[in-house]
Amino acid sequence: MTGLSGQSVSVIIGRLLEQGLVEETGAEPRPGVGRHPIGVKIRSGGALAFGCNLERDRIDGAWIDLSGTPVVNESVPFPQGEEPQRTIQRVEYLFARLSKAVSPPDDAGKLPAIGLGLPGPIDPVSQALVNPPNFPHWEGVDPRMLFSESWTTPIFCENSATAAALGEAWQSRTEFSNFLYCHWGVGIGGGLVIDLETYRGTSGNALELGHVPVVVDGAQCGCGARGCLEAEASVAAICRQASELGLGDDFDLLVALAPSEPRIAEILSRAGRLLAQALLGAVNLFDVDAVVIGGHHFQQVADWLLPPVEAVVPELAMRHNVRPVTVRHSMLGEAAGAVGAASVVFDKLLPTSPPFVPSPTRARASHHRDTLG
Ligand SMILES: [Zn+2]
Repeated sequence: MTGLSGQSVSVIIGRLLEQGLVEETGAEPRPGVGRHPIGVKIRSGGALAFGCNLERDRIDGAWIDLSGTPVVNESVPFPQGEEPQRTIQRVEYLFARLSKAVSPPDDAGKLPAIGLGLPGPIDPVSQALVNPPNFPHWEGVDPRMLFSESWTTPIFCENSATAAALGEAWQSRTEFSNFLYCHWGVGIGGGLVIDLETYRGTSGNALELGHVPVVVDGAQCGCGARGCLEAEASVAAICRQASELGLGDDFDLLVALAPSEPRIAEILSRAGRLLAQALLGAVNLFDVDAVVIGGHHFQQVADWLLPPVEAVVPELAMRHNVRPVTVRHSMLGEAAGAVGAASVVFDKLLPTSPPFVPSPTRARASHHRDTLG
């Protein structure tokens, strides 16, 4: 495929072996005389990336390998509403601590950059956070400016939902190359992956699934509009609706009571139907192969929210007679935010195209990206 001679390939493979980026899989028997070829595969631990995701009350950090699996990870809680400078100090400590925790020989593969997952929106030019909900002190702040003077490692900032979509793409890249990622929680965000590249829009605000209108003249949303998905069917909306019925506003308690309290079950089912409506609209717009829904809170209520989405999206999407749409949970577990943020480093420093599909378009495009070498 490359047009290189066998000898050149051997020299290159020898260097990659030395650097620990590939490993031998043993001799592969083949009919005829001569030496059997030795199989080689990419070694997951050959390159590691670090990512940190900022939640409203904790930082999740992880070093992940090329398969998207955390090698080490840790969550650090902090008081809500803390000064951004202090929070970034915690990021620096966490990076230092987890870097020491990576043992040889994998520590040799650590990429010199960190990914930082942040609540959106992020100004694509200044990299400053624009009015992030629930992060009162972060308005207009460029987090990169808050790192200490001695900090030299490059920092790649990314909206958490887009980062999670990248993490999903990195872990399941042989499965879907076109999919929609929906983060469901107190807020609702999204990411769109097309041909294994994320689509961010010109202002970096693409896939604000939470602000897709689903109810005409519905509940007032923080964005100024009415009837947005987030105002009608998020964790916050569910708590508000339950509270209005005198059922309390503690989400964990509501989830626990849902099996025996039909009014809570109906609130959750309605949220699922509205989520299905917004996702069906997005699938019809973007013609994606899969919808992946993630988020810690989603796991808690998936029994109510997932069935309406599974019933509606694959059945009613305009493409269903051509190719079915898959709906599923995110494959990323507890460390989803950190894995997503770390995947941003891979996305910036490594070509993400499938390496064994020769395509002139992809090859040309990759010349314009930074590569590992
Ligand atoms: Zn809105």
